[in-house]
Amino acid sequence: MKAFVFSEPYKTEWREVPEPVLAEPYGAILSPVAVCACTSDVHTVFGGGKPKQTNHVLGHECVAKVVKTGAQVKDFKAGDIVAVPAITPDWRAVASQEGCERHAGEHFSGHRLGRTIPGVFAERFAIPDADTTLAHIPQGVTLKQALMCVDVMTTGLTGAEYAEINTGDTVCVLGIGPIGLMAIAGAAHMGAARIIAVGSRPKCVEAAKLYGASDVISYRDGDVVERVLAMTSGNGPDCVVIAGGGDEVFTQAVDMVKYGRGVISNVNYYGGDGALAFPKFSGGRGMAGKTIHTELAKGGRARIERMLKMVEYGRIDPEPLVTHTFYGFENIEKAFLLTKEKPADLIKAAVIINEVDL
Ligand SMILES: [Zn+2]
Repeated sequence: MKAFVFSEPYKTEWREVPEPVLAEPYGAILSPVAVCACTSDVHTVFGGGKPKQTNHVLGHECVAKVVKTGAQVKDFKAGDIVAVPAITPDWRAVASQEGCERHAGEHFSGHRLGRTIPGVFAERFAIPDADTTLAHIPQGVTLKQALMCVDVMTTGLTGAEYAEINTGDTVCVLGIGPIGLMAIAGAAHMGAARIIAVGSRPKCVEAAKLYGASDVISYRDGDVVERVLAMTSGNGPDCVVIAGGGDEVFTQAVDMVKYGRGVISNVNYYGGDGALAFPKFSGGRGMAGKTIHTELAKGGRARIERMLKMVEYGRIDPEPLVTHTFYGFENIEKAFLLTKEKPADLIKAAVIINEVDL
């Protein structure tokens, strides 16, 4: 079968790869119905840091049709259209029972698709454990909405959740790509009063306002820390969600977040090696009472079904994030390249492989 493969650093290609093997008795084989390219795919191919597994099928954002299930799979059958979480923890691991499901065994172990097991940019792919992984799509939820739930929405909301937002808080969201936009939507739902979004691409600024940003400021209009402090009477925001940017955003977050109770939630990826700078002065020389959380998106079936429920009941509509739509399996490469180029009007590039009724 055909697949879009990360062949070596800085290189991708279409390749004939072996058919996936059904993992008995809990696994499933699926065929993608719609997929999305992601900045994480771009990082895998073009990112620096530790060498990644090459000759590997890319892709982890997908709505798919179940082709075949293992003998013990109870809740899914061939023909079902399901949302496939980007993060697919091994819920049978003991570490998962202790709350470490995203890092059970080794760090990032929950990010398997397109990383440690073949991804979704193939004619078919396998999931090791269908009942704990796949998510039913409620009636009324569109294909694009479901596609936005599997990674973007859960990651953005993970960012908002770890920021420990209380009713009436001022929240600053650094980065307004798809993840930052969903962090804004999450913050609004969690009771933030004021949401200061930092970013500049016009399409994203428009979406930031749509999802609940009260102010949008640009990195290009001067020092972000100074401006956020000035906007908050010198106190800084109660919470900062880092959802994009280079190494400097980490330092900016520590610089700006409120002393004594400020919480920073990082769902941003920092490429390359080395260390992030923790500013000693604004960090109170290690005693500022500023909390820093770093996390990977929550995944698995229950989490994605919760995201889908937020869509079903009209709380968040992630469909406007899809700014570019391609049709046909062969256009996965175009969506991937567009995500790498990041034109001004791009938020997410989806590929509809089969138009299906949900
Ligand atoms: Zn992704």
